[in-house]
Amino acid sequence: MHVTPASDETLFVPLGGTGEIGMNLNLYGHDGWWLAVDVGITFGGDDFPDYDVMMADPAFIAHRRERLAGVVLTHAHEDHLGALPYLWRRLRCPVYATPFTAALARFKLARAGIDDAPVTEIGLGERFEVGPFAVEYIGMTHSIPEPNALLITTACGAVLHTGDWKLDDDPVIGRRYDHRRLLSLRREPLLAVVCDSTNAVVPGSTGSESSLFAPLREVAEQSHGRVLVTAFSSNIARLVTLARVAKSVGRRFGVIGPAMERMVAFARGAGYWPDDLPDLVDPRHLGFLPPGEVLAACTGSQGEATSALARIATDRHPYLLLDPRDTVIFSSRMIPGNERSVERLQAHLKQHGVEVVTDAHAHVHVSGHPAEADLRRLYDWVRPPAVIPVHGTPRHLAANAAIATDCHVPTACVIENGDVCRLAKTGPEVLGQVDVGRLSVTADGQLSRVPADVLRTMRRTAH
Ligand SMILES: [Zn+2]
Ligand SMILES: [Zn+2]
Repeated sequence: MHVTPASDETLFVPLGGTGEIGMNLNLYGHDGWWLAVDVGITFGGDDFPDYDVMMADPAFIAHRRERLAGVVLTHAHEDHLGALPYLWRRLRCPVYATPFTAALARFKLARAGIDDAPVTEIGLGERFEVGPFAVEYIGMTHSIPEPNALLITTACGAVLHTGDWKLDDDPVIGRRYDHRRLLSLRREPLLAVVCDSTNAVVPGSTGSESSLFAPLREVAEQSHGRVLVTAFSSNIARLVTLARVAKSVGRRFGVIGPAMERMVAFARGAGYWPDDLPDLVDPRHLGFLPPGEVLAACTGSQGEATSALARIATDRHPYLLLDPRDTVIFSSRMIPGNERSVERLQAHLKQHGVEVVTDAHAHVHVSGHPAEADLRRLYDWVRPPAVIPVHGTPRHLAANAAIATDCHVPTACVIENGDVCRLAKTGPEVLGQVDVGRLSVTADGQLSRVPADVLRTMRRTAH
């Protein structure tokens, strides 16, 4: 399909992340120009070990890169910025991000040997212009520092691209979501809300990050041995909570795993590591402390074979071995596709006599995405003329659309990757389809297109 956005329209074209969770790559088009929002990766998991790291094929926009005004990143999760070091050379455009995300983007680009990517830091809540697009960062809450929604305004109206979000009134670190700005959007010339659907099938409201302190403290208090907690490295608020739990039960706190140590350093650099926390114990010293004095966080919640927890569970870690009186808490969600690895890991731990605590036993994890009641609150505040669900499998998108319709949003438009969706005051309209696909990283670090038959199997087995 030949697509050149006209001056009287705003186009939305998701190349990845719509109809699936992961590898987000969204395009907005207006007046001959394009703006990309997020460039993420996804993982093959247990079912597709030959396709460990994948991303949306950017061919459509790479062919028009002289008309790509920039990439705006909403936040620093891998499914939103992880593909930047792989794809930047094909796009070669300016990158915009808030300070914490920009620091991570620069680190990832430098590690890939890219030193000429212009990464512009934008302050929280600021507005800036990229080609014919005026972009405003609107602070949200999620499970990483500095999650943002984007208000993208062109001459023909505005779109609220929510990014990943939840409504957390006490997010432990960082600011609360910008309720006042969200509420004021009902007076803006909005064309649509393009909205996170990850938890649309979950009833009720997603809890606050701060609700975890008491239950995590209770588990730590009842354990006589070491307490090891596995969580996502980027969930700085969770690590801060764990440091506070350790302090309150008289244990020393440390983090194990290079990715987690690096994240703490980035959080400290960006001002997200509170001064009142006790000093971290060097991970090399954790194994020498009496077990009852240790609370440590580590990587490996998805059963990754090379992670700290997988090596600890199989007695292959240089710093820490576990004893039967120890406890391991999985303070995380199991990402669909990783079930076998996680179950194998938990079985190893139990064989050692280690007590395993998951969110099935206690309130030790809370999601970062909006459940049904949160979506309803947002739609009620913003009162958009249209909702386009993204960031979900078809089941999640349909659930989000049904909620929007129930909230009297006039149009809820379920689309898929590659759809060219025209956003206008008369409502969204799908004009046609552009080519989409996936690239995977080969063993020698190159990118190759995932074959169509493999892609079909991946779609069929998606949860
Ligand atoms: Zn996220
Ligand atoms: Zn995401």
